[in-house]
Amino acid sequence: MAEVEHGIYFIEEIATGSYKIYERREASMYLVCGSEGACLIDTAYGLTDLKALARELTSHPVSVVNTHAHVDHVLGNHWFYENEDTRVYMHPADKPIYDAVVSGYVEMLRQPWVKEAYGEFIAKLDPDAVRFPMTQDLHEGDVIDLGGKKLEIFETPGHTAGSILLLDREEKICCAGDAIVENLWMFMPECCPNEVCLASLRHAYDVLSQAGVERIYNGHFYNEPITLQRLKNMVDGMEQVVSGIAKGEPFENDKGKGTKFTFNDWNVLCRE
Ligand SMILES: [Zn+2]
Ligand SMILES: [Zn+2]
Repeated sequence: MAEVEHGIYFIEEIATGSYKIYERREASMYLVCGSEGACLIDTAYGLTDLKALARELTSHPVSVVNTHAHVDHVLGNHWFYENEDTRVYMHPADKPIYDAVVSGYVEMLRQPWVKEAYGEFIAKLDPDAVRFPMTQDLHEGDVIDLGGKKLEIFETPGHTAGSILLLDREEKICCAGDAIVENLWMFMPECCPNEVCLASLRHAYDVLSQAGVERIYNGHFYNEPITLQRLKNMVDGMEQVVSGIAKGEPFENDKGKGTKFTFNDWNVLCRE
């Protein structure tokens, strides 16, 4: 299926019953539908009612998994809140980030500037009515069975301590959040040491190459999914960063500063 524009979303069927959903070309989510259930991987900024959007693509119950707890992957979780028993799945190591994001968001909704900046979207939300689901732990080896479709969980700490990837072994695709991206952010306070990231990239490469995965999807907008070869290049490059061989350059952006290492087909932003 070609990419279809749907309001502020761009939807593409990447495998039978599996959809990539870009939100305003900034953050992406994936809806995987089985014969008994569906799973939304990440919820981006959740600018509009994601549950209603998912309803248009599947009639099965939708559970939510977050690849990690950064704001651009979890904000839409609140659309799935039904009652205090509602849970979203994530790795427990990212729980502190989630708690901070959730409390910060509700506070942000009260700010006048939000109405200015996001008038047509989140400014419509009533801060007193917005509720976020609590979390249920996911770990390496867990399997989400949707009926005819399974998603296997692998831990890939680095970008955050609780980053995970989800493997659809049947379709030979995986969703890696921000753990495997062309522009890898490792400079923020919540990022793990580079050695931990290297171990996770190696682990991901082992798992995904053995499974013959051809397409690695991530949490942002890129024209093409990442290939195994590029992941191998990331492993090689990160080895050079960790061993001190790679030469970096200083960078600064709105989230912080550090050292940028540039390779042929990817780059990584590390702490100084
Ligand atoms: Zn992130
Ligand atoms: Zn992100």
